Amino acid sequence: MGKEYDAPIKGNILIVDDSLDNLRLLSSVLMKQGYRVHCVADGEMALHAIRGEFPDLILLDVVLPAISGYKLCQILQTNEKTREIPIIFISALDSESDKVQAFKLGCSDYITKPFFLRELVLRVENQLKIYREKENFKKLLYQSAQERKTVAHDLNQSRALLAGVLNSSLDGVAAFEAIRDRWGIIVNFRWLVVNPVAAMTVGETGDSLRGKLLLENLSGHLFEGLFDLFVQVVENCIVLDKEHYYNRDQNWFHIVAVKLGDGFAMNFRDITDRKQMEIELKEANLELKRQANIDSLTQVANRRRFDEYLNQEWSRCAREKQTLALILCDVDFFKFYNDAYGHQAGDECLHKVAQGMSLAIKRPADVVFRYGGEEFAMILPFTQGEGALTVAEDVRERILKLQIPHDLSQVSNYVTLSLGVSSIIPSPDSSPESLIAAADRALYEAKALGRNRVKYKALELPLA
Ligand code: GH3
Ligand code: MG
Ligand code: MG
Repeated sequence: MGKEYDAPIKGNILIVDDSLDNLRLLSSVLMKQGYRVHCVADGEMALHAIRGEFPDLILLDVVLPAISGYKLCQILQTNEKTREIPIIFISALDSESDKVQAFKLGCSDYITKPFFLRELVLRVENQLKIYREKENFKKLLYQSAQERKTVAHDLNQSRALLAGVLNSSLDGVAAFEAIRDRWGIIVNFRWLVVNPVAAMTVGETGDSLRGKLLLENLSGHLFEGLFDLFVQVVENCIVLDKEHYYNRDQNWFHIVAVKLGDGFAMNFRDITDRKQMEIELKEANLELKRQANIDSLTQVANRRRFDEYLNQEWSRCAREKQTLALILCDVDFFKFYNDAYGHQAGDECLHKVAQGMSLAIKRPADVVFRYGGEEFAMILPFTQGEGALTVAEDVRERILKLQIPHDLSQVSNYVTLSLGVSSIIPSPDSSPESLIAAADRALYEAKALGRNRVKYKALELPLA
């Protein structure tokens, strides 16, 4: 007996019956089965008992004083809190209509009197089992609904975070999905994600771009030159990092694209201002370099450039075993010119002479230099002595033909030049200085022989 009392209670059962005998019989049977039983004799008492504690199951007589079993069933069924409590009718009324009415009111089972005790116990057990499974199922449903709510909340939060990051980015950010033909070849890309900066860059809105194809409408032009590179990003996992010039808007973009699923994610930044500055800086540097090599008075290459160029062409002609020719010129009686016309007129005269010499140049590699004071030079790579003499004579004639008046000259009424020419195939036995010395000797001879003339001197090579 002790064991039975210690056993866990199988459930709370409320029995509603106005027959004391029935109450006694049912309660003793069910208690023996391990149920806790509460007995009441009418509907009022039943409602009172239910308000105190919800039973797990109600055994309900149909015919009761005041509130009938049907009425009580109806009351419980219409209340949200009690509608799930299983009700088993126990009644002597055994017509079909009675039973139909009872089930219509929402009872779980209907047992007619007289009943078999073992059957009743089994039916009670069945209903409790169904009730408990329903309760468990409800709990599970509730739990999974709660979990779904949490997941949805987390998802919304991370979406909002991502959208916040994308929307606040000053760079264009977009993601694309590859569109393939039936052979698997990528033929286009579809916009999946696009932030406001990216949309603005192609002159659209995010909503109008999402789902659209890349090689379509306006945006297609912007990415035309890049399409094959995007395909490589997807097919070969190559990271694209490129500065791209968009000709139509004359804009520069720095584009980085990486593979993402069967597509790619792209980040791009307008670097037009930076690029413009780079170009201007490059031009300024070139101009600086040019100015560093130019003589400001005559606008021909300066002495610094002469030294550099002579060494450079000396090496080149040595390598190619070709002749390098040098012409040195000096304005005749220039001191007198300054005396006669003033220093400023002298400057202007030097400018005219330099420009006149430049006109005698026929090949890109031939260069005129201001060698110093009223002296000029011409370096003629790949030119033999004879050719250099012809050029020198041409220069002399051109300057004379400029007819720059020079009243104090002792050789002409106009400004004239004396020119010394030399040439050599550079070798380890000679040096650029020896070429200059030879041309200088030729110039000296031209001066000594009366000026306004050209003289040639070969190099004096040291004896072997
Ligand atoms: P020669 O026929 O022997 O060459 O006589 P020259 O007078 O030309 O030679 P000299 O060396 O005696 O004088 C060169 C003159 O050139 C002296 C100098 O004032 C002048 N000169 C040198 N550089 C400049 C310059 O930049 N501007 C001007 N105006 N004169 C210059
Ligand atoms: Mg001189
Ligand atoms: Mg002179």
